[in-house]
Amino acid sequence: MATESRRSEEAAQEKVPRLSGTLIDELQDLCDENVFGCYQCGTCAAGCPFIDEMDLTPDEVLRHVIMDRKEVLRSKTIWLCASCFTCAERCPRDLNITKIMEALRQIVLRSNIDETDMTGLTEEEKRSIPQLAFVCLFRKNVG
Ligand code: SF4
Ligand code: SF4
Repeated sequence: MATESRRSEEAAQEKVPRLSGTLIDELQDLCDENVFGCYQCGTCAAGCPFIDEMDLTPDEVLRHVIMDRKEVLRSKTIWLCASCFTCAERCPRDLNITKIMEALRQIVLRSNIDETDMTGLTEEEKRSIPQLAFVCLFRKNVG
């Protein structure tokens, strides 16, 4: 059992993109946001419509980036973010968290890791899910 859980941990680790520099370096190539401006007030999390589904709240995502914790790139949160800009509108430090989430997704996709796996969908689900949902999914999740 312990071996099995170690294996799945290793498999998850393998999917964390290997970066040559820090997360901040990578982010700076993709967006201009000064993540060090975040003072962890949690306003972004308070207004996020998807907070109940997220494994890290938006402020925790920021904290991970600041601490160079690359496991944030395995977080469900960056894929669940619907780019609604509520957090960006409300952040007292004018941080565009939406842009940061997008940049984190780009970092993953540039490592040739696709987050879309349709193999688990049943034929019935494939028939009933709106085509637009598939298009949006592919636009966002496939590099
Ligand atoms: S609202 Fe802005 S300052 Fe507050 S935790 Fe979120 S990102 Fe940080
Ligand atoms: S942009 Fe993303 S993180 Fe921000 S409030 Fe909307 S869904 Fe949540």
